Amino acid sequence: MAQKYPEWIWHNGKIKPWAEATTHVMSHALHYGSSVFEGIRCYDTPDGPVIFRLNDHNKRLFASAKIYDMAIPYGLDEINAACREVIKANDYTTDYLRPVAYRGLGGFGLSADTPTDVAVATWKMGQYLGAEVLEAGIDACVSSWQRFAPNTIPAGAKAGGNYLSGQLVAREARRLGFGEGIALASTGLLSEGAGENLFLVFDGALHTTPVSAALLNGLTRNTIITLARDNGIEVIERDLPREYLYLCDELFMCGTAAELTPIRSVDARQVGTGKPGPVTRKLQDLFFGLFNGKTPDKYGWLERV
Ligand code: PMP
Repeated sequence: MAQKYPEWIWHNGKIKPWAEATTHVMSHALHYGSSVFEGIRCYDTPDGPVIFRLNDHNKRLFASAKIYDMAIPYGLDEINAACREVIKANDYTTDYLRPVAYRGLGGFGLSADTPTDVAVATWKMGQYLGAEVLEAGIDACVSSWQRFAPNTIPAGAKAGGNYLSGQLVAREARRLGFGEGIALASTGLLSEGAGENLFLVFDGALHTTPVSAALLNGLTRNTIITLARDNGIEVIERDLPREYLYLCDELFMCGTAAELTPIRSVDARQVGTGKPGPVTRKLQDLFFGLFNGKTPDKYGWLERV
């Protein structure tokens, strides 16, 4: 089925028809992966449409650009405004925003100082890991591909090139019939999913892998840690060996696209009862409660379009 694209994109300062928001084949980013980007969800709430943690996401966009010494020719407020503009231009028909800044046309060398082009696209994402997974959970596997070692490719940047690793992990998992792949760090300890952070539950406490485990410091991860602590659930950031995926009581992955997705098995070993457990359920209620009005927005995460 052909993809139906939304009508409008923000590109280098202007709203353009989708078909006109193009870039040259010799753009630096296309050859060398030199882009940084964000993925941001929009939700309909009882108080109207909101963008979830818009400012925090775009702050991370600038942080990723800083790591790569990439100048973004707009300010944070301008990128935030562009995100709002593109949602409105598409008549609120989309639920996901994709700001991207990339080295454009202007030199072929690795260290070329090309201009940075910036776009904000939007589309309808729906449920990233498929329908019903939020209820039933997914079957995951540990990938044969590890994440990058420290001081090789910075995992803390959300950069285009990093997603070559994510593609290897995700495609291998799908080829083997799993819903998603989980990667180990170069240490052999747990890192994260192809595009999601990991949480394991032991005796009612939440355990999650630390930023030193070659992962992206996810905003959903931060949201869940905050909601858990605010609701009396203990959260421990720690290195975890692979086998604890099989031994934990509950397991889930989270990210902007995946939201909060339970994992019911890993490498064909059932996790817990094979059904989302009480801590996972509670955190799903708290997380999705932000968007249905049941969880108070204490931190101003819901930003009006
Ligand atoms: N890890 C990776 C590799 C990701 O691509 C993502 C999605 N951006 C995440 C974790 C989760 O991050 P966030 O919650 O900020 O979307």
